[in-house]
Amino acid sequence: MKFLFLFLVFFSLISCDAQPQKRAEKLLSTSTSAGKMDSSDAYWRKTLSPEAYAILRQRATERPHTGAYDQLWDKGVYQCLGCGLPLFYSNTKFDAGCGWPSFFQAIDSSRIRYLVDHELGYPRTEIRCARCDGHLGHVFDDGPPPTGLRYCLNSGALKFIPKHKDE
Ligand SMILES: [Zn+2]
Repeated sequence: MKFLFLFLVFFSLISCDAQPQKRAEKLLSTSTSAGKMDSSDAYWRKTLSPEAYAILRQRATERPHTGAYDQLWDKGVYQCLGCGLPLFYSNTKFDAGCGWPSFFQAIDSSRIRYLVDHELGYPRTEIRCARCDGHLGHVFDDGPPPTGLRYCLNSGALKFIPKHKDE
């Protein structure tokens, strides 16, 4: 009997959850393997610019079409600005026309932490750096093939490392 009760509680907890988008939802269960980095708020305030702190640590969103990387098409790798973890390659970047740098695939899904975000009154999938927990942006289901995903990022959460000519 107790077992049944627990089952019902568990079931009601699941069904209470609004449904995020399907593909993006699948990512929520992805386990993270990137080594965790726990740093104090004081560390981030000292290390990051006020703009980067607002995005990475306070989940702010930069205004569309204002970020440094929205229309950057050079070859290279995009790292987390907070901790330097490589997150996206330039060959997965595409022009979504939304005003933010967009990618259809992360270098490794385990380097991203996926969370449900209800801030706008409907569920979205927030993405954070798996190592430093810095807020990056959101992932949506309206991306191009082969993944159908659109990782929508703040330029201010990223650092671009250009690829060397000989590489
Ligand atoms: Zn990071």
